[in-house]
Amino acid sequence: MDEYPHDLIEFEERFATEEACLGYLAALRWPGGFVCPTCGHTDAWTTKRGLWHCRGCGRQTSVTAGTIFHRSRKPLRPPGEYLKTALLYHMPGFRPNEHYFREMKRYGILPPDFDEANDPIDVFAVEQKCWQSLWHRPEK
Ligand SMILES: [Zn+2]
Repeated sequence: MDEYPHDLIEFEERFATEEACLGYLAALRWPGGFVCPTCGHTDAWTTKRGLWHCRGCGRQTSVTAGTIFHRSRKPLRPPGEYLKTALLYHMPGFRPNEHYFREMKRYGILPPDFDEANDPIDVFAVEQKCWQSLWHRPEK
């Protein structure tokens, strides 16, 4: 992704607002535009609270709904802070912690024999795979 910032200063500027964070996450989750996780409809309007309101089934979806971020047992942090943490994963050269590798193995995104200490990892590609694996999957 060309738009992606190359250092922390660019990063802070790029994601200074919550709208910018949400827009980026939406592009990551729905590269071809919004797809409703409940009915698969592609037409939606966005609410002031940063939710997508499906015109097909009327259900509201957040960009993180149904993702590993949403399934986390950790208490939810304020949205801006939470989004920035998620976005940090995409910084070039960023290496996630053990917890992240465990989760990705658990969800089958990384192979079980992945060597956390030595194998190269493209976090952006892993995240994209993770998010795209969630397409069309109904929420529970
Ligand atoms: Zn829908």
